[in-house]
Amino acid sequence: MDATWSTPRYVSSLVKETAMDRPLTALEKNFTQEERPVHVLSKVYKILNDESQDQKWEEELGIEIHRKKWEKAIAVTHKLSISSKHQERNYKILARWYKCPKDLHRINPTNEEECWRCQASSGTMSHIWYYCPKILPFWQKIFEIYRAMTGNEIYPDILITVLSMIPGSIKNIKRDSLKYFLTAARTCIARKWKSSITPSMMEWECEMAEMRALEERKVLEEGSNKQIKQIQAIWARWVDYSASSLLLCDG
Ligand SMILES: [Zn+2]
Repeated sequence: MDATWSTPRYVSSLVKETAMDRPLTALEKNFTQEERPVHVLSKVYKILNDESQDQKWEEELGIEIHRKKWEKAIAVTHKLSISSKHQERNYKILARWYKCPKDLHRINPTNEEECWRCQASSGTMSHIWYYCPKILPFWQKIFEIYRAMTGNEIYPDILITVLSMIPGSIKNIKRDSLKYFLTAARTCIARKWKSSITPSMMEWECEMAEMRALEERKVLEEGSNKQIKQIQAIWARWVDYSASSLLLCDG
């Protein structure tokens, strides 16, 4: 399966949902054409550069991030999961595709600018994905589980949780496990987009189970023996941990 083609397809589907609200961006124009774009990834890099999505993140976070870190993060979005659906979601976050309350307010001032969960802060992208006091405990709990499962003393940070900038010190199976943890968490948050409801740990656990089933099935169908062993080793830790732990419960 060609995973890179899935991004344009997904962009195209999103445009259908939102195109009435605004003119198409360069990214959308490129990926909504009938014929398959060539060199998809390089186009994505270029458009991200042209549209300065990285600068928007940096301005919002008040930090400078080296270009090489961005390039790595963009590349990582295609490796976070076998599933094209999950790859697309990770890419969309990086490209600021989801519209946060602040964006929606800018488009139409009758939309509330405040966060739809806590209603106490401006609903910026970083707030909705990470800093909201109603979502931060969700990330903290996930990292608590990750530390208990792997022994890796890593704590949540928006660069890791939202922007896929995983420290180089996390390697091999522990790195792959973290990618799944993050992707499942982002999926749960995206599913509650524009909702005041915070995703529960039970939902995250179910997402992990679904992801595991999908990843294992795809590798069994299409992967080499080495890949099959690898994916089983990655998920074995999770299976052992979730079977022996009482941490994974709702709330
Ligand atoms: Zn909030």
